Amino acid sequence: MKIHEYQAKAILKQFGVKVPKGEVCFSAKEAPAIASRLGAGPYVVKAQIHAGGRGKGGGVKIAKSAAEAESFAAQMLGMTLVTAQTGSEGKRVRRVLLEEGLQIATELYLGVVLDRSQGMPVVMASSEGGVEIEEVARRSPEKILRAPIRPGFGLQPFQARNLAYGLGLGAQADQAQKLVTALVRAFADCDASMAEINPLIVTRDGQLMALDAKMSFDDNALYRHPNLRELRDLDEEEPLEVEASRFGLNYIKLHGEVGCMVNGAGLAMATMDLIQLAGGAPANFLDVGGGASTEQVSNAFRILLSDPSVKAVLINIFGGIMRCDVVAEGVVAAASRMGVKVPVVVRLEGTNVEEGRRILLDSGLNFSVAAGMLDAARKVVALSQGGA
Ligand code: GDP
Ligand code: MN
Repeated sequence: MKIHEYQAKAILKQFGVKVPKGEVCFSAKEAPAIASRLGAGPYVVKAQIHAGGRGKGGGVKIAKSAAEAESFAAQMLGMTLVTAQTGSEGKRVRRVLLEEGLQIATELYLGVVLDRSQGMPVVMASSEGGVEIEEVARRSPEKILRAPIRPGFGLQPFQARNLAYGLGLGAQADQAQKLVTALVRAFADCDASMAEINPLIVTRDGQLMALDAKMSFDDNALYRHPNLRELRDLDEEEPLEVEASRFGLNYIKLHGEVGCMVNGAGLAMATMDLIQLAGGAPANFLDVGGGASTEQVSNAFRILLSDPSVKAVLINIFGGIMRCDVVAEGVVAAASRMGVKVPVVVRLEGTNVEEGRRILLDSGLNFSVAAGMLDAARKVVALSQGGA
């Protein structure tokens, strides 16, 4: 789960990271009152969307007066902001953060991410702040410092000091050490999968502050953090993914035209590969799970069909715990309720397969039955491209 910058800053602040004074607003009318609470200005107006690169895309503006802050907020709220991370369709801005403007002396990078190859979190730091860390990694990997956080030991004080001196923060060594330690504690205590401050700044008067902040959390640990779960912003998520999560389905929207309904993540991956091999592209990843009910299957099918880019559907089920007749009943129920306008190819195998096929054939609906996975992939790709 991702959250907004202002929410991440509020969390980091609780752990002792210094952040600029600021408040979020949902309408420009609120801006002048916020500005007066922030002080004399300048102010920074920042679009809150779940994507970075806002600075270059026009989503971060510096205002000299409260009136200017209000007019920037009015411009941003409701606009579709396109950045390097949003894709060309952009994201609609519904909240803006108003902050005190600070005098920046230096911009640095500090983040904690999971290093899957080492099997532990790692602190990454760089004197190249304000730019994408992926770009620094590509251009000048030697400028990235790393400190692994050993499970059971945590970040050691000497590691925090090394990072501080490595970043050239000798004059702020104590502050820097505290900040790194606080960030690592926030990451661990919140079960985060990522916590990033970019840029981390040194102000002209020598203060270290998080000018930008980004956090995301491990969904599987959210049950331990009811207060974090409330920060979820459904407006930022793909509507069909939100709908699918209501029914406990694993659905991820992709950019192709073949809708896939599969049970089991491994079979779903293999199905997507076969669709590519046959010259097509999957419109989604959908794992209905091992023990789905007729109801869930029927919702899954409905969600698949409500994506307008789906030109043909492949149902690929291996009945183990999941029974083929249950799948067939769910599909027929959804299909007869909504009226299916696209061709559907079905490949069923395993428990109660005969009964499943019979339910599909007796339904009077138009399903093509495939002999094996590759045949199914070829058929559905041909149909999605208008062939037979
Ligand atoms: P991002 O582009 O989405 O990562 O948004 P950031 O929050 O990182 O802001 C982009 C850039 O705007 C920063 O790297 C700063 O250079 C600039 N910026 C943001 N806040 C301030 C501020 O308070 N004062 C000044 N002078 N610049 C700021
Ligand atoms: Mn940033």
